[in-house]
Order: sequence, then structure tokens, then C-alpha cells
Amino acid sequence: RSGRSAALRARMEERLLGARFRYLNQQLYTGSSRDAARLFRADPAAFHLYHQGFERQVRRWPERPVQRIVRYLRRRPASLVVADFGCGDCTLAASVRNQVHCFDVVPLSPRVTVCDMAEVPLAAESVDVAVFCLALMGTNLQEILGEANRVLKLGGTLMVAEVASRFEDICAFLKAMTQLGFRTISKDLSSSYFYLLEFAKTGPGRPGPAPGLRLRPCLYKRR
Ligand code: SAH
Repeated sequence: RSGRSAALRARMEERLLGARFRYLNQQLYTGSSRDAARLFRADPAAFHLYHQGFERQVRRWPERPVQRIVRYLRRRPASLVVADFGCGDCTLAASVRNQVHCFDVVPLSPRVTVCDMAEVPLAAESVDVAVFCLALMGTNLQEILGEANRVLKLGGTLMVAEVASRFEDICAFLKAMTQLGFRTISKDLSSSYFYLLEFAKTGPGRPGPAPGLRLRPCLYKRR
């Protein structure tokens, strides 16, 4: 009997966590990166809850996108300097020999530099590889990718792993990336979970709106 009420209670707690996760997630995808940074700074508990929810979602996937980025980096020289925008628990930094600058809004690991990804404390043209692994969350995408462009060396690599269903029009997206100063090197659209895109920095972006850059918010269903 007490076993049954404990099970019921656990189920209710699970539901509540799920609801809070979806609410936070929605806020992250519908506000600017600055709002996200502010939200989590004000409420670090919300951040931890978000991360638990994120983990639960991604564990269901056949492959974690960050593992693809790890494999990619291992094939390239370890001397390349990497910037991981929205690094989460720093799995990437922990899995490669490269120097990795880890940026997130709240530190899940001591490696993290706390900041808004639209404004990272790195000098211009100082990194070889910039990574956004499931991290293109704010509505100010152009500003965020502009920041990656600023810190990347000319010819440097931008890696984007993002939820497949967020792309409304991948061609329009890639075209917009050209305007932001990124040439497409490779695209792997084979997974129904996430797309993996590799770009090279061709120069600074051209100013002006890039309407094709839009991504749908990633809203999880209630389960
Ligand atoms: N790249 C990691 C984590 C992805 S979850 C992985 O693949 O496992 C998305 C991460 O982006 C979260 O850790 C979240 O806190 C971070 N994030 C969201 N908005 C941000 C912002 N404005 N600035 C920096 N990090 C942000």
C-alpha cells in the first residue's frame, strides 16, 4: 500500500519535472540568448532542472550529437583551438586533447566560463573551431553566429549540430549562412534526430537581415 503511494508520488514528481522542463525549454527557444542568461543566473536551480530534462531527452536518441563532434575533432590535429558555445557538462572538452574554451550560462563543470554566447570573452580571430551542439537556442541567431564569426580565424571551422525538425528550409538556412560569412563544407542530413553541418569562415558577415536563418523552436511533447 505505501509502496503504491510512493510509486504514485514518484510519477507525479516526474510529471512536474517534465512540465517545468518543457516550460523552461520554451522560454529558451522563444527569447534572446541574453534573456536565457538572465533567467538562469537568477535561478540556477532552474538550470539544473533544465539539464536533467535535456539529458532525459537526448538519452532516447540513437546517438548523441556531441559524440559526432568528438569524432570529427579526433580526426583533425589536436593543436586546433576550439570554442564550445553552450557546452553543457563539457563532454566535448573532456573527450578531446584540444584546448577547448567552454561557454555556458551557469557552470555545470569547473571548466565553464560563464557568459552569454552572444558575447564571449575571446579575442577576434583566436580559435580554429567553433561548436554549437544543440545550442542555437536564442532568437538572436544572427548575433550569436556573428560572435562565432568574430572569434574564428579566417578559414576556421564552424560545426553546428541541431535538431532536424527545427529547420524549416535547409537551403534558405545555408544561403543565409553565406551572408553571415560561412561557406558550407559538409552537411549530414541523414539522421531524423539531428543535422550535422560543417562550415568554413570566408570572412566577416555582410550586414543586413538574413531571413533564411530562422529555426523553429524545439518544443518537446508531453510524454
Ligand atoms: N552542447 C551540449 C549541451 C547542449 S544543451 C551537448 O551537446 O551536450 C544547450 C546548452 O546551451 C545548455 O547547457 C544551455 O545552458 C546553453 N545555453 C543556452 N543559452 C545560452 C546562452 N545564452 N549562452 C550560453 N549558453 C547557453
